[in-house]
Amino acid sequence: MTPTVIEPGSVLGVLGGGQLGALFTRAAAKHGYRVVVWDPDRDAPAHRLAAHSFTTPFTDRETVTRFASTVSAVTYEWENVPAELCEQLERQRPVRPSGGVLRSIQNRLVQKRFLAGHGFPVPRFAPLTDPNDLPDLVREVGCPVICKTAMAGYDGKGQWRIDEPSAVPPLVPSVQASALPGMQWIVEACVPFERELSILAARGVDGEVIVFPLVENEHEQGILRTTLAPALLPSGVAERAETLARGVIECMDGVGLFCLELFLLPDAVVLINEVAPRPHNSGHYTLDACSLSQFEQQVRAVCGLPPEPVRLLSPAAMVNLIGKDIETIKQDAECQRLLGLPGAYLHDYGKRETRPRRKMGHVTFLAEDRNIARERAEQFHRRLLDAIGHPDGL
Ligand code: AMP
Repeated sequence: MTPTVIEPGSVLGVLGGGQLGALFTRAAAKHGYRVVVWDPDRDAPAHRLAAHSFTTPFTDRETVTRFASTVSAVTYEWENVPAELCEQLERQRPVRPSGGVLRSIQNRLVQKRFLAGHGFPVPRFAPLTDPNDLPDLVREVGCPVICKTAMAGYDGKGQWRIDEPSAVPPLVPSVQASALPGMQWIVEACVPFERELSILAARGVDGEVIVFPLVENEHEQGILRTTLAPALLPSGVAERAETLARGVIECMDGVGLFCLELFLLPDAVVLINEVAPRPHNSGHYTLDACSLSQFEQQVRAVCGLPPEPVRLLSPAAMVNLIGKDIETIKQDAECQRLLGLPGAYLHDYGKRETRPRRKMGHVTFLAEDRNIARERAEQFHRRLLDAIGHPDGL
């Protein structure tokens, strides 16, 4: 029988070995657990920290058996792991969040229907099953819209923004080209957000929920670039975000660490963009700025421990290091000066290959005054953009 609480000394399993899997592995080690990592990519950074690694494809049946017999509980680092795999593993070990929760999240269309169906506020949307119907759907939803692949898109990949109906016909072939068998898309109204926000929440097996502070995010080309914690917003917005986070996770009966990406519209209207069933890039500030990081909360939830209340110990501003940024910061005197300031923390994910648009690391600036943390992050960010030459040069 599975014990209710998985004790330190036990072995946890994580599907996916990118930076989120690696940071989970570190957090687990800090609390006395060992981690087995399963990622078909041999170069995935978490393999180097793992007690044991599997690099077979996720469809390998023998590894399913071996993985399940080695670990006491399972989690995953992102939502694109196969839900069937989680369901197979679940027959033998707790998987947190569950395969069912993963299914209601990993397909954008299923997720949006779930949210809208339960009365949570989301942008207007419509399903697309045949790219030839795109002109009609764009008219129905109303320009501007964003067309997104229902599965497997991330960091702006598999997304097309359409500002005018006349822009649709030339786009149809590229939408068509993205079609895998059974592929669907979602056509969403492009909302005039004033800010992008996100909020992390952890829920334990006993149903207890804790939320982290609401944060503000800025993106470049669909990729998160900066996060500022805490967000400073009109009264009531943080409370609304917290209510949404609690409501969504409870409604899904989710156990684990989740993140809600939100849009703040004029008149303090808050819409949900996306729910992630895992730690989030915008939560990396918690590693240096909180009494317990998002990864430590993930470990607690996976092990059946109740979530621990979190304190923000310092305002923080995080800047992602994308592509060549990781090389720029080593050569640039101004970046080095900023990194040398007290309260600056560099996290290098140790990825062997630098690729455009790839997240290679991040820097968190802590300061007693939120404006100082923000100012340092802005200076650092500007420096990275100067080095690239233009803001679209990721
Ligand atoms: P996503 O992968 O859905 O999180 O989208 C990546 C980014 O595209 C978001 O962070 C927003 O900046 C932008 N975006 C996505 N959906 C919308 C929308 N419905 N309205 C406006 N901007 C959006």
